[in-house]
Amino acid sequence: MSKVYDVIIIGAGPAGLAAALYAGRARLSTLVIEKIKDGGQIVITDEIENYPGAVEGESGPSLIKKMVDQVNHFGAEKVFDTVVDVELEGDIKVIKGSKAEYQGKTVIIATGASPKPIGCPGEKELTGKGVSYCATCDGNFFEDFDIYVVGGGDSAVEEAMYLTKFGRKVTLIHRRNELRAAKSIQEKAFANPKMEFMWDTVIEELKGDDILTSMVVKNVKTGEVREIEANPEDGTFGVFVFIGYDPQSKVFEGKVNMEHGYIVTDEDMKTNIPGVFAAGDIRVKSLRQVVTAAADGAIAAVQCEKYLG
Ligand code: NAP
Repeated sequence: MSKVYDVIIIGAGPAGLAAALYAGRARLSTLVIEKIKDGGQIVITDEIENYPGAVEGESGPSLIKKMVDQVNHFGAEKVFDTVVDVELEGDIKVIKGSKAEYQGKTVIIATGASPKPIGCPGEKELTGKGVSYCATCDGNFFEDFDIYVVGGGDSAVEEAMYLTKFGRKVTLIHRRNELRAAKSIQEKAFANPKMEFMWDTVIEELKGDDILTSMVVKNVKTGEVREIEANPEDGTFGVFVFIGYDPQSKVFEGKVNMEHGYIVTDEDMKTNIPGVFAAGDIRVKSLRQVVTAAADGAIAAVQCEKYLG
């Protein structure tokens, strides 16, 4: 008979690692299941300056390494496996991985959500070097530079307006000639003197050796293709992509309550299934940041302890 853990945590980003730290400190037998690599989205972040206490030069990988060391110190076990199915009803929850099956009395789902990429050449290589998916994280780095934002939904327009605090100007690049964002948000954007709009346009390629220096854009109506170069004095510019997110929740469909692929919890991170909690970006929530993910993880672990008690 395989071991029955007190807590199984699925996902080793900031939410999962904070949960593992709290569960480990509470002397709960804890297993963390991670698909490929610790850290989640934050490992693609070059510099973190909005996590309390992060020292100057703190990067996503360096912060995650500290979190992992802390988790190891408090005794959580870890496996690298891909969860393919779950049985969450009942007192013992069964998590089926592609390599093995795991059993736990409680489960914390911390699988996160990934920003959708444009999918054009150069995007992957220049992420963190001009291309970003988080205005709150990276807006500061583009103080008085040109900034481009891709997308036409609420996120793109709101984040573009936030970025006008930093950029010389912010140009919203949208593939159609009208925004999807709520009218009230649109009105504010059109009234903002630092906002410009590039309609019917998509980015075809992002270029630069070590930093973003130019991009190729195409007008989808006229077919015109042109290259936009960085202002020579700046040498670079920012491209922020907000074209939606993919919550990593497919395997939990039909097993817990969700809204648009995000798991619904109360403020104690409880889902509708007793003993099953969710933490971090996978939850329905208003601010998806490292600090809020870590807080969710801590709350979820404490609630597991209460549930087990
Ligand atoms: P969204 O509403 O799905 O908008 C995605 C935008 O990206 C759309 O304008 C879409 O264009 C564009 N897009 C999609 N794929 C693209 C591609 N491959 N290339 C170029 N453009 C592409 O996503 P979201 O803005 O992240 O919002 C997600 C949900 O959260 C929405 O329900 C939104 O209302 C909500 N939200 C609410 C608030 C708020 O109320 N304050 C703030 C943020 C988000 P098309 O329009 O042509 O499809």
